Amino acid sequence: MKLLLLGPVGSGKGTQAAIISKKYNIPHISTGEIFRWNIQNETELGKIVKPIVESGNLVPEELTNKLVEDRIKKQDCENGFILDGYPRNLAQAYALDKMTNLDKVILINLSEDEIIKRLSSRRMCSKCKQPTSLQWLVNGKCEKCGGEVYVRNDDKPEVIKVRLETNKVPNELIDFYKNKGIFYKIDATNDVEETFQLLDVILKK
Ligand SMILES: [Zn+2]
Repeated sequence: MKLLLLGPVGSGKGTQAAIISKKYNIPHISTGEIFRWNIQNETELGKIVKPIVESGNLVPEELTNKLVEDRIKKQDCENGFILDGYPRNLAQAYALDKMTNLDKVILINLSEDEIIKRLSSRRMCSKCKQPTSLQWLVNGKCEKCGGEVYVRNDDKPEVIKVRLETNKVPNELIDFYKNKGIFYKIDATNDVEETFQLLDVILKK
């Protein structure tokens, strides 16, 4: 099963990809992980990508495509894979189309209000460095160690709005897969388990 998960930041896409990966025994592939793997293993592509990633610049499209192609040819992808965060635009979708044929593309959808609600309730513990949530705090402190909590810069409402805008799933990408007849959409308003049940119905189709 060759799968692509799409969804906005805060939709729980990464969590769902991890659950699917475990249940169906196919690798969860994100470009960030591919970059890190190649850098750590000092591959030819890794040597090229390292200074780009380290400088905080965007990895050129062509190089990203090459790295993904290289990754999905590996043996653990024999029975399929879950792509997460790639392709992020139409140009990459065309490039991927030349490498392989996806079986299903699923958009994990969540309203902007719900995303802001979720992300803005996230807290970080300054003591144990673990993420937590406003609802779990005990007397305003970390429920695990009692440490002081704070809001990560990324999770401030004004920053969330910018992240949502820059990470939006482009409509032309959705249309591209709709035209292929492999596009599905689910709603992620419910909890992780219920969202997975909705996904699983589509995966079993
Ligand atoms: Zn803590």
